[in-house]
Amino acid sequence: MSSTSARTAKRRPEIDTVFTINEDGSRNFIHTADVKGPWHTFRNAVHLLLLLVYVGVPWIQIGGYPAVHLDLPGRQAFLFGQTFTNQDFYLVFFLVTGLGFGLFVVTALWGRIFCGYVCPQTVFVDGVFRRVERWFEGSREKRLRLNQGPWNLNKILRKTGKHIAFILLATASAHVFLSYFIPIRELIPAVLSGPGGHSSAFIWATVWTGILYFDYSWFREQTCLVICPYGRLQSALTDSDTMVVGYDENRGEPRGKKGSDGVGDCVDCFRCVTVCPTGIDIRNGLQMECIGCTACIDACNTVMQKLERPKGLIRYDSLNGFLSGKRRSIFRPRVFLYGFLGLLGLTVFTITAMSRSPYEVRVLRPKGLPYQIKETSIQNLYNLRIQNKSQEPATYYVEFAGFADPENPDEVASADAGMPPLDVVLAQKSVRIEPLEDVTVPAFVTMVRDDYSGNMPIYFAVSDSAAKTSRKVKAVFRGP
Ligand code: SF4
Ligand code: SF4
Repeated sequence: MSSTSARTAKRRPEIDTVFTINEDGSRNFIHTADVKGPWHTFRNAVHLLLLLVYVGVPWIQIGGYPAVHLDLPGRQAFLFGQTFTNQDFYLVFFLVTGLGFGLFVVTALWGRIFCGYVCPQTVFVDGVFRRVERWFEGSREKRLRLNQGPWNLNKILRKTGKHIAFILLATASAHVFLSYFIPIRELIPAVLSGPGGHSSAFIWATVWTGILYFDYSWFREQTCLVICPYGRLQSALTDSDTMVVGYDENRGEPRGKKGSDGVGDCVDCFRCVTVCPTGIDIRNGLQMECIGCTACIDACNTVMQKLERPKGLIRYDSLNGFLSGKRRSIFRPRVFLYGFLGLLGLTVFTITAMSRSPYEVRVLRPKGLPYQIKETSIQNLYNLRIQNKSQEPATYYVEFAGFADPENPDEVASADAGMPPLDVVLAQKSVRIEPLEDVTVPAFVTMVRDDYSGNMPIYFAVSDSAAKTSRKVKAVFRGP
């Protein structure tokens, strides 16, 4: 890093180049300076709270199941007491669009506040790994000196200590991440029993530890700049009334030393640049690289305070506010549109999720065997697949309901509707099914051959005594 640090000292961020990449394509590693101020304090508090949430949520149990858990091998998910199986997968669309448009509303109002405060990438890099780096290597100036200095005992000890701490933290973070996929009650014994007993979990944990160590210790802001698509989206989501972190050019320019004639409030001290985790100069205008972390606001306010000038040369404001001092408008068409679409997605998700049946029934037919012709009869075989989607064992009762009403095919025909007689044999009339398991009940339906006059819709009924609900499922009796 010593060579890149030397380049850092020479280069100034420009609007049309990426500061973190050198001309020869090598990495220009950012060493952010420490900053103090109300925004920094607030952001630290948010990061601490979120770290507690990330780590704590997998420990919360509702009804004996994790509050938030994605069971990929079992193709099911648990979300605050609700269980979703693979058949509920379509709901992901409404949840993702609801949350996605919700994020659009936040972006349209306050820019990239999500990136600066809530995104796990920022929370872990700024809230944990940079902090640990400071403990081991000191302030920005000390870190730069250490990097440029020779490999003496002090440097070896500090660097080794830092990377051991990083690897331990990456291992812990990887296990926190995995705890959303493997329940804590299984993950802890798996970790304690060593790699041999749970080789696939061990491989996942190792791979994620490697990815997170690489990301949090070295790749850092490159994840936001190169990989994350959200930064590129922001210019399409924001407008001149969006609150962003920006520099008041009218007040700050032309830059110059305090006491010089005809200069603005910016003394070109470069503090706002040295604290920036993405290495940009906010004085060049709103840039894709800005994650809205507010470090430059605190840094500049401290400088202004020392110069006995009003704070807010760099501040949260809208583009309209910076250019003309106009009050911004909150109620813009895009805010309503994103808000409406977000609410729509979340409402459909919530209502559909809450009104789902606690069990699912599907009629499956054996492949390549639509019917069997016996001497004087036709026989159809159906497999009734019943899935218990609840978190309790339940007993289900199966019966044949009858033909569909020719006048109203959504209803079962009445006994005196003149339908031909059927012989129905159910392999089981009642089945007990464990939570999130499914059972298939075969049903043989036979009709006298002379009674058959074309495909005939029929109904089976499945009832759940615990929930006192009954569902009818349609099938078709087929013949030659
Ligand atoms: S911290 Fe403020 S005064 Fe210093 S360079 Fe940045 S904008 Fe100018
Ligand atoms: S420009 Fe300011 S708000 Fe944006 S990332 Fe840099 S320090 Fe944070």
